[in-house]
Amino acid sequence: MSEYIEIRANLPEDLEDLEDRLAVIFESAAILGVQTHPRRDGRIEVSVWVKADGGPAANEARSALKDLGFEAIRVREQVDRDWSDEWRQGLRAFEVGRRWWIDPHPDRASLAPKGRLRLAVEPCSAFGSGTHESTRLVLMELEERDCRSVRVLDIGTGSGVLAVAAERLGAGFVVGVDIDVIAIREAQTTLRRQEWNCQPPLIAGGVDCLGDVQFDLVLCNMIVSNFRPLLGDIHRLLSGSATVVFSGILGSERTEVEEILRGSGLAVSGVRELGEWISVLAVPMGDRS
Ligand code: SAH
Repeated sequence: MSEYIEIRANLPEDLEDLEDRLAVIFESAAILGVQTHPRRDGRIEVSVWVKADGGPAANEARSALKDLGFEAIRVREQVDRDWSDEWRQGLRAFEVGRRWWIDPHPDRASLAPKGRLRLAVEPCSAFGSGTHESTRLVLMELEERDCRSVRVLDIGTGSGVLAVAAERLGAGFVVGVDIDVIAIREAQTTLRRQEWNCQPPLIAGGVDCLGDVQFDLVLCNMIVSNFRPLLGDIHRLLSGSATVVFSGILGSERTEVEEILRGSGLAVSGVRELGEWISVLAVPMGDRS
């Protein structure tokens, strides 16, 4: 861990062009950053960071601040902090719906409260930590269903959270697809993090690469403009008794989405709301068994 030095000082009142003057003074490469904080009482507090091994930089910074009229100059050494790691450490497991317990710490598992199923989902670059309403809506839909022996397709799997949840509920078969190769890699990590041998196949690609397979439950959490061009392919992949869960839809888009779905041979069979977001259930028209 590298260390740096923070120099703090106060200026009794603001100076014209202070920011510019500081910028000129601290052009030195050994300066890591300068921040000014105007205080309510009119004082200006400044923080200057220099590398601990920056030679005379710390002393130069001190005298420059003194020359500008800064007072109460304090210098302290600090250990470099990994902010992203600290943020991760601070995350807590949380409840979703009635049955889920989303744990962002695969390495130090927390016990799920009674009646809840733990999913280990570490925040990653792919969408799907479980905090967003659009993901929660699908998780809430899943918990209401008997998924046993159901063939599930998760379009836009992202972190893999929904594929993992479907498998946890005993789905007969789960496939996740995503056009983002990095998301597929992250989803593979999510699979490995689970307490059981979680093995849904994940495909880097679109729904068009799925061939003739049929699914009973399709999960599709992505914005409307993304799922709209996929509706023909989605319809082709549905078994006669299939349901599609569309999420990632704003309440204000409801009428538009219902029309788009009808135009693609899908009838809306339910809507769920969470905040300003909704999920829409759809079934193939004329095939409602
Ligand atoms: N399923 C997760 C992530 C949803 S984010 C959840 O519910 O939280 C939406 C994902 O859809 C992104 O990872 C994005 O890469 C993917 N995506 C967007 N367009 C796609 C398409 N045409 N086919 C497959 N995946 C797509």
